Amino acid sequence: MRIDILTLFPEMCERVFNESITGRAIKNGLISINAVDIRAYAEPQRKSRVDDAPYGGGSGMIMQAEPIARCFEDVWRKSAGENSADGMPEKPYFIYMSPAGSVLTQEKVKELSKKPHLVLLCGHYEGVDERVIEEYIDEEISIGDYVLTGGEMPALVLSDAVARMIDGVLSSEEAVSGESHYNGLLEHPQYTRPPVWRGREVPEVLLSGHHANIKKWQREQSLIKTYKRRPDLFYKADISDAEREFAENQEKTD
Ligand code: SAM
Repeated sequence: MRIDILTLFPEMCERVFNESITGRAIKNGLISINAVDIRAYAEPQRKSRVDDAPYGGGSGMIMQAEPIARCFEDVWRKSAGENSADGMPEKPYFIYMSPAGSVLTQEKVKELSKKPHLVLLCGHYEGVDERVIEEYIDEEISIGDYVLTGGEMPALVLSDAVARMIDGVLSSEEAVSGESHYNGLLEHPQYTRPPVWRGREVPEVLLSGHHANIKKWQREQSLIKTYKRRPDLFYKADISDAEREFAENQEKTD
């Protein structure tokens, strides 16, 4: 799996994805993540400028279509992949990180992790010329209903979430399938040593060593937490009628 992040701030991205779990996955050759500087594709007469004033007036600047298109085409041309009839490698899946896109979910992350090559476009200023979206973008993705200054953090969020889904990226200790959202529910509460902290005790069942009871408790806590905090997820999750009734009844007895 390869991810190319098209950005005006490559160093900002490199500092983040070369650290921690994504950094380790890159070193181990499980994923390749690159930051590509859009300014290197500025039109020669404009030096390294890639933005201009919006048609129709208004504040702020818009990133021009041509440098973005050239940057994408170069990444595409150089990408390894199966040759298509016209001799170009297969087109990478091109995503524009945008507050106007559909909001990222774990399901979408899973789907994207199966694509061999993702290219993520980071906007800045007031955004990008619509025509490059029409020409090349396969999908617009938002990381939430708020507006950030640039698409770098959203692209890093998406890259991190996708990297975690690649086989071998997480060690067996890190790869917990019960993680929040992986099965449509929120994860149960977690505890570590000491057994009593400032008078608060770890639930007894977790110290019992009884594997089946621990699993049962964790599942119940996961159901209750999801029901209380995210009923929208709870009623979409793949759970039995008995589990649904169990969580609903907990509410009544609290
Ligand atoms: N004028 C744009 C609008 O109203 O939709 C917002 C532009 S925003 C200031 C600059 C860039 O930040 C966007 O082009 C996008 O790449 C990125 N961005 C901001 N918020 C985002 C979000 N919630 N999710 C994904 N990308 C975001």
